Amino acid sequence: MIGVTGARLVGGGTDLLVAMESGLDQAAVLVDITKAAGAATIAEQPDGSLRIGAAARLDAIASHPTVQSRFPALSLAVYEVATPAIRSMGTIGGNLGQRPRCWYLRQRIPCHKNGGTGCPALAGENQYHAILGGGPCHAAHPSDLAVALLALDATLLIRSAQGTRTMSIEQLYANAATDPRSETTLAPGELIEAIELSAASAGGTQRFTKLMQRGVWDFALVSLAACRRTDGTVRLALGGVAPIPWLVNPSVGEDIASGALDEDSADALSARAFHDAQPLEMNGYKVHQATALLKRAMMELSRE
Ligand SMILES: Cc1cc2nc3c(=O)[nH]c(=O)nc-3n(C[C@H](O)[C@H](O)[C@H](O)COP(=O)(O)OP(=O)(O)OC[C@H]3O[C@@H](n4cnc5c(N)ncnc54)[C@H](O)[C@@H]3O)c2cc1C
Ligand code: SF4
Repeated sequence: MIGVTGARLVGGGTDLLVAMESGLDQAAVLVDITKAAGAATIAEQPDGSLRIGAAARLDAIASHPTVQSRFPALSLAVYEVATPAIRSMGTIGGNLGQRPRCWYLRQRIPCHKNGGTGCPALAGENQYHAILGGGPCHAAHPSDLAVALLALDATLLIRSAQGTRTMSIEQLYANAATDPRSETTLAPGELIEAIELSAASAGGTQRFTKLMQRGVWDFALVSLAACRRTDGTVRLALGGVAPIPWLVNPSVGEDIASGALDEDSADALSARAFHDAQPLEMNGYKVHQATALLKRAMMELSRE
């Protein structure tokens, strides 16, 4: 059914239905993934990995005992999403597939992303936009879950009428930074069936921190997911700073893993991570926020 021309998958509908009402999105047919048998199942697998069905509701994920005990970065990230009402409706698949929140896009002002040309945010209201990897579109990626899943190095199971394949979170958003018309690499007729977290990514030290303008019920100005695995490997991901969930250069993780960092080394490393940042006129504050978050995580993780 999802392969039918004009068909769109719907989870909780908290983003898609709003986007359709405003004219940002269209669908000839809506296919409700939450009705598919087993689509919302969260289950540990015999190899110790965790499989989360794409139709699992956000509140079910956040409160799931295995997610809380073995993958707390994900649980913490989900608890930071929106309101309890939206978490009770929204699904993990829909959270990963939600459209960017750029004010111009949501108001249907012509730009690269909606059939027009140019980016009015460049010389306009750009306080919430990207500081890394932006252009031609500078909208920040909106999903908190994607940031946690990137730090956890999650794998996505993709299904279509042709069969199944797997991809990483990086691959899902591979073109989003460079092609404003592409928000995911899913082909027509493909859907996310499940998200898998490996046994190797369970436990260790896991953090998720999110800075918001209003303090609650808001998208991230900047967020950071930090995971130090039991084998010592460190992976860090940032949200709110780029058109994709942003993987911090793995060399930074290697430096953290190599031993306790002093204040000066953490300063130097966190500054290095944002060497290529290109803040816009109104969002230079994000460089300072992201640098501070990263430095704090580095100091904590290097002492573990
Ligand atoms: C007031 C408000 C505050 C919010 N704050 C935050 C926040 O702080 N952090 C955050 O991360 N999000 C936030 N959100 C976004 C919210 O989390 C998403 O709307 C929700 O997670 C989307 O899930 P859904 O199931 O309702 O998606 P839907 O609206 O059903 O779908 C969204 C998109 O995903 C696609 N899709 C759905 N399921 C799949 C699948 N299995 N495979 C492939 N594509 C799929 C749909 O086709 C559609 O394009 C906020 C939303 C609101 C309204
Ligand atoms: S940031 Fe992206 S979505 Fe926003 S106006 Fe510019 S091109 Fe459009």
